Amino acid sequence: MTSLAERLSQLRQQISSTASSCDRDPSEITLLAVSKTRPVEDIQAAVAAGQTAFGENYLQDALPKIAALQDLDLEWHFIGRIQSNKTRDIAGHFSWVHALEKLKHARRLDSQRPPGLPPLNACIQLNLTGEASKGGISAEELPALLENIHDLPHLKVRGLMTMPPASADERLQHQVFGRLRELLEEMNRQGHGLDTLSMGMSGDMRAAICEGATMVRIGTAIFGPRDSK
Ligand SMILES: *Cc1c(COP(=O)(O)O)cnc(C)c1O
Repeated sequence: MTSLAERLSQLRQQISSTASSCDRDPSEITLLAVSKTRPVEDIQAAVAAGQTAFGENYLQDALPKIAALQDLDLEWHFIGRIQSNKTRDIAGHFSWVHALEKLKHARRLDSQRPPGLPPLNACIQLNLTGEASKGGISAEELPALLENIHDLPHLKVRGLMTMPPASADERLQHQVFGRLRELLEEMNRQGHGLDTLSMGMSGDMRAAICEGATMVRIGTAIFGPRDSK
């Protein structure tokens, strides 16, 4: 049996060696540990092994864990789909959202961000393969959404997020991640100053890193397989 600390350390080494193999500086890549469905004890074990940034998809599941661990200096990322009736809790308890796709949600998160907290960091989710089951906007919709969000004072758009189809082979993974990087560069030529590419999960991390990921969102490779519901 490999312990969580060992898996985490192996994963960090893998991120480093993958980055080096495609001429990237490993320090540009942040590891987000996706702790959805995992108990507080697993998160504590990861914290003991040096991990501080955690991603959660389900608000009801996340809030008690955030409360239980509030004495630790952790950074919480909401990576699930955003719903209007959840924006207040997201704005109040998280530092980042990764799957922003609606101006309406951006406005709510902005107005509900508690005073005294820094702006909520956000990535806009792109759906680049037209998969009906996935969230995200098309590349064509991105410039207008960015323009409209730009002036919200309590929300800071940091970058873009995407997920290739689960069935994608390595070639398609590279295509999708490479396209996201191009879009980010295009937006930055228009003056948006984005610095984050949130892409790469346990199964497609290598392609994501080589295409420019700055944040990889990894669950299974750290915590083991999730129970299927
Ligand atoms: C579950 C999830 C992950 C992590 O997936 P693994 O395959 O367990 O690494 C990353 N991003 C999002 C949006 C997820 O829902």
